[in-house]
Amino acid sequence: MTYDDNNIFARILRGEIPADKVYEDDYAVAFHDINPQAPVHVLVIPRGRYVSLDDFGEKASAEEIGGFFAAVAKVARMLGVVERGYRILANNGPDAHQEVPHFHVHLFAGRRLGPLIKRAPTG
Ligand code: 5GP
Repeated sequence: MTYDDNNIFARILRGEIPADKVYEDDYAVAFHDINPQAPVHVLVIPRGRYVSLDDFGEKASAEEIGGFFAAVAKVARMLGVVERGYRILANNGPDAHQEVPHFHVHLFAGRRLGPLIKRAPTG
């Protein structure tokens, strides 16, 4: 899948649309999800042009991958959610309902998060 430079997160990275940022460094940018599913719901995205985790794992350098996941953990520490706990999640492709074609990790916290996944109504 080719990267779409007009996806919403590419536009956030270019500063064309606003985002409520909580952290940024050379490898990652983190901002609050516009439609939060938990008291804390932050998205962490790499600066590079990667469609999905599959694309990121295949094409990103070890430095980019290491820098990105270090940033995810740092964001959790900065948000003060490590002690109580948090969950990270990355949707990859249609069955996972990935909506935005720029790799991102969801970080959820702030309440008991329940089971890992819900049973879908169909399929
Ligand atoms: P996905 O289903 O692709 O894993 O998740 C995409 C996430 O991006 C959703 O949780 C959605 O609420 C969030 N999102 C979509 N558009 C925007 C936006 O313009 N700004 C922010 N902050 N989040 C967005």
